[in-house]
Amino acid sequence: MSPIGATLAANGNAAETGPNGDASKLRITLTQSRKAVPPPEEQIFGKIYTDHMVVVSFDPAIGWLDPEIRPYGPLSIDPSASIFQYGTSVFEGMKAYLGPDGKARLFRPEHNMARLKKSADRLALPSFDEYEVLKLITKLVALESRWIPETKGHSLYIRPTIIGTRPSIGVRASDSAILYIILSPTGPYFRISKPISLLAVNEPVRAWPGGTGGHKVATNYSPTFKPQQHAEKLGYDQILWMVGEKVTEVGAMNFFVVIKRDDNDLDIITPPLDGTILPGITRKSVLALAAAHPSHTVLSGLPDVVRLHAHERELTMSDLRTWSAEGRLLEAFATGTAAIVAGIGRIGFEGSDIRLPENEGGLGPVAKALFERITDIQTGRTEWENWGVLCE
Ligand SMILES: *Cc1c(COP(=O)(O)O)cnc(C)c1O
Repeated sequence: MSPIGATLAANGNAAETGPNGDASKLRITLTQSRKAVPPPEEQIFGKIYTDHMVVVSFDPAIGWLDPEIRPYGPLSIDPSASIFQYGTSVFEGMKAYLGPDGKARLFRPEHNMARLKKSADRLALPSFDEYEVLKLITKLVALESRWIPETKGHSLYIRPTIIGTRPSIGVRASDSAILYIILSPTGPYFRISKPISLLAVNEPVRAWPGGTGGHKVATNYSPTFKPQQHAEKLGYDQILWMVGEKVTEVGAMNFFVVIKRDDNDLDIITPPLDGTILPGITRKSVLALAAAHPSHTVLSGLPDVVRLHAHERELTMSDLRTWSAEGRLLEAFATGTAAIVAGIGRIGFEGSDIRLPENEGGLGPVAKALFERITDIQTGRTEWENWGVLCE
């Protein structure tokens, strides 16, 4: 496998002669005071971090320096740095799960690495070798394995981040950067098992054609906080983002509906990746599993005579209204690494709510079957096409 620095095109070939971020050169400085792992009820998403983190710096003259694992703590960054002035920051969200064999597993991590690379490229941050970064993640998770929760529904959230650290307020690409990886033990994203409510919003927009909505870049998220506060004031949990007539995503999750067909099969529909939608790995997995039922595998709780037809197709609020009025809108749900699958109970738009059928536990049969299969694969209780990757 090639080192992190080997794929640097734009920044010359300094990396070929100097240090290159090779995971085998990892330097480890262990903490002097290990923290106590909090009990499951205190494992709230993104509140607590483990003892150590990975840090790799990119120097414009040298390339990626040797990676470090060091005690979790503040980074020292110049106040003029690109990240503070121009928001040059990209990130990923992944999870490590404990299997029945006591081993840690990642879920389709190669897709997170490819997406991180694309996000970095979109903001002209330095490129890296995804295999080396994946090795660093694996080593950090292995070192912190005592932090992986054993409680069902809990996991170790992984947040790889790259920030631009060029110390200059000149408006241009950052030619220096820091890649770091932090870990947080976490319980269920939505702590109550009831469906979430959505407010459909077409102004302001989260993303637009030709914009950055399809990349995990930090500047997609901060402008959503104020509209989110507004939605909460109106009594809704999350925003269903629209672009014109089209619905796109739920907060920072992908959106799906389940529609009953005339032949009694089910359509599972999510909007297409037109650049305004983040290509979620959970989304991709849901589409693949839906297409596999029932011919390749029978999802639990679903009749094997009902086919699930997976589609990537534009959806409008008027489609949803029509299907709801016809009694064909059976389920709506949102997908993402944090919540995996979240049921949707109602969608407000232009002063009235579309109500979805109620289900015990907050998930309809299709959402529940997908949630269970995906979590079974993530925790190594079921094998599926090498989606689960051991952290060794
Ligand atoms: C991360 C993210 C998702 C979900 O992606 P996963 O790979 O499934 O976690 C969906 N939408 C947005 C806007 C996101 O940032």
